[in-house]
Amino acid sequence: MPVVEETYDIVVVGAGHAGCEAALAAARLGFETIMFTVSVDSIALMPCNPNVGGSSKGHLVRELDALGGEMGKNIDKTFIQSKMLNESKGPAVHSLRAQADKQEYTRSMRRVLENTDHLTIRQAEVAEILTEEIPGECGTFKKEHEGQQESSYPVKKRIVGVKTYSGAVYRCRAVVLATGVYLRARCIYGDVSNPTGPNGLQAANHLTDSLKANGIEMYRFKTGTPARADKRSIDFSKMEEQFGDKRVVPFSFSTDPKSIQKEQISCWLTYTNEKTHEIIRNNLERSPLFSGAIEGTGPRYCPSIEDKVVKFPDKERHQVFVEPEGLYTNEMYLGGMSSSLPEDVQYAGIRAHYFYVPEEPEKEVKKPVVIETPEPVVPAVEETPSSSGGSSETSKGLPGNDDNQKSHHSSKKKPSSSDEETKTYTVTFQTASGDVFCTQTVEDGKTASKPKLQPSVSGSWNYDFTKAVTENIIIKWSAQ
Ligand SMILES: Cc1cc2nc3c(=O)[nH]c(=O)nc-3n(C[C@H](O)[C@H](O)[C@H](O)COP(=O)(O)OP(=O)(O)OC[C@H]3O[C@@H](n4cnc5c(N)ncnc54)[C@H](O)[C@@H]3O)c2cc1C
Repeated sequence: MPVVEETYDIVVVGAGHAGCEAALAAARLGFETIMFTVSVDSIALMPCNPNVGGSSKGHLVRELDALGGEMGKNIDKTFIQSKMLNESKGPAVHSLRAQADKQEYTRSMRRVLENTDHLTIRQAEVAEILTEEIPGECGTFKKEHEGQQESSYPVKKRIVGVKTYSGAVYRCRAVVLATGVYLRARCIYGDVSNPTGPNGLQAANHLTDSLKANGIEMYRFKTGTPARADKRSIDFSKMEEQFGDKRVVPFSFSTDPKSIQKEQISCWLTYTNEKTHEIIRNNLERSPLFSGAIEGTGPRYCPSIEDKVVKFPDKERHQVFVEPEGLYTNEMYLGGMSSSLPEDVQYAGIRAHYFYVPEEPEKEVKKPVVIETPEPVVPAVEETPSSSGGSSETSKGLPGNDDNQKSHHSSKKKPSSSDEETKTYTVTFQTASGDVFCTQTVEDGKTASKPKLQPSVSGSWNYDFTKAVTENIIIKWSAQ
């Protein structure tokens, strides 16, 4: 059967921040380059907060710019607020951060890519890396792996192209993988696990097997995003207004500062309150972060709100930055409220917070609460084979979970606290690299399926459950 077959110098898999820069760099050097994405409408999409820069990342953007990158130029064209952070401290820690108009940022980057010579953009899922053997290059790793026969080693291979899910073949001299948060991605909140990429985009489900077959070790990571709010439901009079800088400093060294001094949109600062914390504490056992359903390693400096409430029980409030997603929408990003809790808990927690004003019930009528569907956690990359080595029950964290389907896994297969049945579970606590440092046998639904997470009862566990998230500990359950 005839298949599409084309030849390029460079294949770039991905059209996020990384893929765009890689494709532009290659094409601008004159290499015939093709860039793949699961959706061309998601080019340079920022699935979380549409901002660029900030502490540590701001420096990266400017380094990219110094190397001829596009990100700095693109944010200079599309920002709606710009701020130099940490100005009260020394210049070494000054950090530029800009809030983008989410759609304008992607449109503008797409315009640049589409008008770059030597660059082809294609919407297709890359499913396989194609390789060929290099004659006479076998057994080169022998000295590093004692006890194995030379002949047991695969011959050395080189990449010769990629194959898409539809079977099309793209031959090339090099492949750049910039697959971001799409490889076998799942969106998880509460007991819902949905096999999808960010913002409902298709996950890339096939490439992982090919990478593994080529000896690439895979780890599973997770990240989170907060529910969004309609700005009409927000009482801004209860918040502190955050203005942009009076004199905007550009990200790109090639941008004329005079050209970007423009009217900016405000962001807002508010705080959680004790009521929000109480709702979170009362529902911790429904968080997949604590139940073991999520086992990826999380970002260290971007904890979820439940994580903060558990980790800092003495703190009466946590900061929430309310930031516009763009000029085209009422959607407001709730920075600091990232959560994996079920949607009813997220709604209750947010309403208890600053929208709902019990002493002024008419406020709710004037400003009806309209909250976007929460899309809290998107683990990005397929788990390492070593962490999935146990039974399917343990590797999914909860017995009987089938993550190929949209599933409501929670404690369905485990006895609920009201069940008469007594079941025994082995619970193991392991580090992200797979080292098991604590094992415990627990009996009965009461203890096993509904572990109490409040510090007051953590003593009944050999390991302090409440530290699991902050220490990136993976909890695995195995029914006996
Ligand atoms: C829920 C969530 C919260 C986040 N929060 C933050 C945050 O607060 N701060 C922050 O800096 N970052 C955050 N991120 C991460 C943010 O996505 C990254 O910073 C940034 O988008 C990564 O860019 P990237 O180019 O590496 O990958 P991505 O933006 O993920 O892009 C990956 C690209 O690869 C393509 N792709 C993947 N596999 C294939 C395939 N097999 N075939 C064809 N195309 C493929 C996709 O279509 C996409 O174009 C968050 C991400 C998510 C999902």
